[in-house]
Amino acid sequence: MTNVAGLPLPAQAGTSLPSFYENALDSLELDDPVLLGLLNDELGRQRETLALVASCSPVSPAALLAEGSIFANVTAEGYPGRRFHAGCVNVDKVERLAVDRAKHAFRARYANVQPHSASTANQVVMNALLSPGDPILGMDLDAGGHLSHGAPVNVSGRVFVARGYGLAPDGLIDYDEVRAKALEHRPRLIIAGTTAYPRTIDWAAFRAIADEVGAYLLADITHIAGLVVAGLHPSPIEHAHVVTTCTHKQLYGPRGGLILLGESATTTLPDGRTLEQAMQGGLFPLMQGAPVVNSIAAKAYALGAVDTPRFADTMARVRSLAAALADQLMRRGVRVISEGTDNHIVVADVLSSFGITGVNAEKALEECDILVNKNRIVGDVHPANVASGVRFGSNSMAARGLDAEDVAEIAEVVVDVLTAAESASARVHTLDPQVRAHARKRIGAICGRRPLAGY
Ligand SMILES: *Cc1c(COP(=O)(O)O)cnc(C)c1O
Repeated sequence: MTNVAGLPLPAQAGTSLPSFYENALDSLELDDPVLLGLLNDELGRQRETLALVASCSPVSPAALLAEGSIFANVTAEGYPGRRFHAGCVNVDKVERLAVDRAKHAFRARYANVQPHSASTANQVVMNALLSPGDPILGMDLDAGGHLSHGAPVNVSGRVFVARGYGLAPDGLIDYDEVRAKALEHRPRLIIAGTTAYPRTIDWAAFRAIADEVGAYLLADITHIAGLVVAGLHPSPIEHAHVVTTCTHKQLYGPRGGLILLGESATTTLPDGRTLEQAMQGGLFPLMQGAPVVNSIAAKAYALGAVDTPRFADTMARVRSLAAALADQLMRRGVRVISEGTDNHIVVADVLSSFGITGVNAEKALEECDILVNKNRIVGDVHPANVASGVRFGSNSMAARGLDAEDVAEIAEVVVDVLTAAESASARVHTLDPQVRAHARKRIGAICGRRPLAGY
């Protein structure tokens, strides 16, 4: 047998797997119709709603298949060639494939594909490089930093003495403030990377600050990993000591994390280890036990798929659609933080634009099948579970192949809905049923003519 390119296929390809999955589906139908019903409901919901939550992307069906695969049956503590269990012959190949593809995609010298999540990846980096009680400096949670960057409610904020930097009133990172905080607190690690930042991050500026105070620099590119791979956001790989990311936000892959090193891989630490050795040991045995091999298989798929013209196209669309959305909202009088975007994120101040809170805007839009999340903005008067802004993201719109005209229509619907929505209180809203019905019809039509590929 050969594939479309005329290359020989492995002996079993295309024969045993389909029957395996058919049997699995049969068992699900027979044994657990309740769960099957929920899966079907969820498929319908994902087809029919417009997901503009910036921290997700629809996973490629093939990656989902790999994630739901028989690699789940293998216990594989350790690394390829040095496992603590037998039976890892194919698992070793899968992990090496994922590592090679991660290195290629990010132009890295070293990749660890075992982190269960980006939060875990960050914990690995911190615990491998620092001692409990060491000072760290990350962006404040309120300003758009991540929990795992030293938030008081997170283990990172308990084990280390965490300080934060904020954003300037214009919503941008103020590198002078970061430097002043670094000089004041003398952190051993500085974290650059955010969850709601619509603009380009200046990695060299962060590295200069880190060098000035003798700190390690961790670049957490979880949100923008796809743009970095596609060359549409500068890469931190040769600026930061360590780079972390997840594989599910912008790589259309499974939930999981990666740790990446550039030339710094061979840097020797004060204790004699190289940075690469510190990351290997920092993951296993310091922070994790056996890796989730089926997830690594899905990471391998997703990391292979980023090396295609199709992915480059999708990322170009991610950027142009977000820019178009920011533009269309501003034209309709909406206050957009930083007046635009360089990436996939658009943050809108709904309180000053429409007189409703972020949570009420989120709920009103959800009633109309548009999914966003409430988000605090600079100087916000509301707590995070109310907030004055909402965050939009373009990863799913790009995967659906939307164009600028679709985005103009979406902006129109968003503005219609948020204009009609009224806050009865900070967390309770009302929405005219006719406005809702009209908006749902328009969004349903867009989802219908722009289906998610493979769904
Ligand atoms: C989402 C996010 C994470 C956490 O990712 P998980 O894989 O969900 O743990 C870490 N850092 C940043 C900047 C994020 O946005």
